Amino acid sequence: MNYIVLDLEWNQCPAGKAAENALLRFEIIEIGAVKLDESLALTDRFHEVIRPQVYRELHYKTKEIISLRAIDFANARSFPEVAEDFFAWCGEDAVFCTWGTADLTELQNNLAYHQMASPFPFPLLYYDIQKIFSITYEDRKSRRSLEHAVDFLGIPKTIPFHSALSDAHYTSLIMQRLTPEQILSNSSVDYYQTPENRRQEIRLNYETYSKFVSRPFRDKVQAMKDRNVTATACCKCGKPAQKRIRWFPIGGSNYICLAHCAAHGYMKGKIRLRHRRDDLCYAIRTVKAISPEEAYEIREKKEVLRLKRRLRRKFNNDKTP
Ligand SMILES: [Zn+2]
Repeated sequence: MNYIVLDLEWNQCPAGKAAENALLRFEIIEIGAVKLDESLALTDRFHEVIRPQVYRELHYKTKEIISLRAIDFANARSFPEVAEDFFAWCGEDAVFCTWGTADLTELQNNLAYHQMASPFPFPLLYYDIQKIFSITYEDRKSRRSLEHAVDFLGIPKTIPFHSALSDAHYTSLIMQRLTPEQILSNSSVDYYQTPENRRQEIRLNYETYSKFVSRPFRDKVQAMKDRNVTATACCKCGKPAQKRIRWFPIGGSNYICLAHCAAHGYMKGKIRLRHRRDDLCYAIRTVKAISPEEAYEIREKKEVLRLKRRLRRKFNNDKTP
């Protein structure tokens, strides 16, 4: 098994959103990657600049990022040529690592745009080192810049940031300050391709929580009627945890609930509903073990939302003559 630590640079429409190609918002212009063996030792590097075909001029943000480097796009190869060589270089037994959640999604977008077959399995699990840095060294929730993590760990800054290869390089140095166990026990799911049916639904168990990714639904209402979506099995033992507070909306397309397992205590359920490219929606549900204090906060939150709703109704009634 090899770790492929990947970083991409991409460009977007220089004339703004209104003029962009709806099929390709972000066009990859550089692939940088580092290969580590099972013990996280560096074995190889991959780096290539890609000649843009959709947005031939650079967006000002892209220019800002890469302005320090003289890039020769005219002599660069096209995305399909570079991508093919890149995947051949990755090999069969690759596990992908990135800083943040965007790179693999954009890579698949670019493959689809060029009508290239995806070499990725389903589901695509990968390792988001930005998340794993937070889980290991900080509060699990915050997402820091790559440079912050490099400073935090006292890694010498020998090369500038914001080139695909240098960012992959720094991400690999951060991985070398983690153990394979810390990395491999904290996978992420890439949501470019989500389950198409019940059989494909994804269930994953982590140390402190469980995750479920659903098949598609027509809308929110349909999703929230589905038993698989709203189930709250205990994340420690898998047995059904009894609902103490039913699912309630907390804004956006998010819902939470409170459940209780006789053996493992309180569980917080969270559902996020997201749109797919075909406008159907799918649900991501997590269930995590929480303290009685956190359980109390959920009760409090529900009560505050109820009072707010009541006040708003009263206010609206008062306004009507
Ligand atoms: Zn339990």
